[in-house]
Amino acid sequence: MEKIVSLCKRRGFIFQGSEIYGGLAGTYDWGHFGVALKNNIKQSWWKKFVDERKDIFGVDAAILMNSKVWEASGHVAGFSDPTEDGKQFNVMFKTEVGVGEEAAISYLRPETAQGMFVNFKNTVDAFHPKLPFGMAQIGKAFRNEIAPRDFIFRQREFEQMEIEYFVRSADWEKYFEYWKDEMEEWMEEVGIDMNKVHELEVEEKDRAHYSKRTIDFEFDYPFGRKELFGLAYRNDFDLKNHKLEYIDEEIGEKIIPHIIEPSVGLDRIVLAILLSSYVEDEKDGEVRSYLKFKPNIAPVICAVSPLLKNKPELVEYANTKVYAPLKAEFGRVAWDDNGNIGKRYRRQDEIGTPFCIVVDFDTLTDDTVTVRDRDTGEQERIKVADLKNYLKERI
Ligand code: ATP
Repeated sequence: MEKIVSLCKRRGFIFQGSEIYGGLAGTYDWGHFGVALKNNIKQSWWKKFVDERKDIFGVDAAILMNSKVWEASGHVAGFSDPTEDGKQFNVMFKTEVGVGEEAAISYLRPETAQGMFVNFKNTVDAFHPKLPFGMAQIGKAFRNEIAPRDFIFRQREFEQMEIEYFVRSADWEKYFEYWKDEMEEWMEEVGIDMNKVHELEVEEKDRAHYSKRTIDFEFDYPFGRKELFGLAYRNDFDLKNHKLEYIDEEIGEKIIPHIIEPSVGLDRIVLAILLSSYVEDEKDGEVRSYLKFKPNIAPVICAVSPLLKNKPELVEYANTKVYAPLKAEFGRVAWDDNGNIGKRYRRQDEIGTPFCIVVDFDTLTDDTVTVRDRDTGEQERIKVADLKNYLKERI
């Protein structure tokens, strides 16, 4: 864990929040590569669950909501954890909206789910979806955790990616199984080590009162086997509380759809991916550490280097014929001419860059470059004209 935390800081992934002022417990700031990693994970989730389907509708609701939302949802009354002396402490961050006597109490949302329920009617009216259908949202959530800890595992400000999938009550078991499979498939797609993932059937006494079935997907973190994300059958609890209905045209009746909810914490996914990807091996008699990211989520797909940075003809070629076109095509492309080639490889390995491309003297005569594979260290000679396709096939 310490090695990962230190790598994340050194290489510009994740920093302690407000660090130069001594930090703020439970907050982290994301550096260049961390943002890229997080964005790639979000994109992969959105692509699979929204873009590639026609039955799930995206939402981006306000973080501040009318406090009546949190009363109806049960959070004002019950979103509490016990303190050390046994008192119940509501972990919602309270704030005021507006000026002076007009000010209204509000809360920073502790989950993204309610932002979807309150837009259920808007979504139905705008898109007329037939059951089953879903809503999806990615966004920040805030909880004044009593004891934030374990790096980005338990923070006071974090990100969630949630789906509310609305079904007819008779179908809930079928769709529960369906979402279990979908989530497993997605975890593999982003490179989570499935040997470290375990399903925990949450017992009735530990389930939220509205849930008839919950599975916690747990992960073997260095600090123990703990929750990665949850899959819950929420019954008709939420729509009922908000007094929302749906006209089921198939049976010509008003019904309250039931909900299956895969609720993913993005930061815990990032941590699980980092822990699944971190490898130490020996290369050229030295221990090297690297992040074995899948190319689809790696912050950098490839780094481009001139063999020597003091040879203008190499620099010119690398810059104009390799770096610029790849950068324009993929965006996630780095220019790296710092130190010798060995040092560049080590640096890119630690960032998790799958391919390093080097322009050398042969390039100037035959228009080929070496492409080095991060995991095996093997190098191939590839035609510059084929580079785009070479990378596309591997992303
Ligand atoms: P825990 O039992 O670990 O506190 P929870 O059961 O309260 O989690 P949920 O309310 O089900 O969590 O939230 C859904 C997901 O949001 C969790 O599975 C987790 O991935 C993420 N999450 C919840 N709290 C935090 C937090 N403080 N920091 C980072 N991620 C969190």
